[in-house]
Amino acid sequence: MSARRNPRPELPPTGLLDWTDGRHWSQQTRPCRYCGQPTHLRDSHRAPAHKTCAETALAEQVADQAAAYHNERLNP
Ligand SMILES: [Zn+2]
Repeated sequence: MSARRNPRPELPPTGLLDWTDGRHWSQQTRPCRYCGQPTHLRDSHRAPAHKTCAETALAEQVADQAAAYHNERLNP
């Protein structure tokens, strides 16, 4: 019954986001919002973005939020 008996699933080798979903694909190429190179892929806001670019941006956001949280705790 303990939740500890179920280990956390391994992270997929393809990255954290599942972009095999058709919602992340468009017939039309548009410039990536991050790097400007053309891409068929769309992020969760339907904005053109490469998977790797979006994942890099997400990782930076998480790091920024963690840093902001840390700073707030240090400077109440
Ligand atoms: Zn890109």
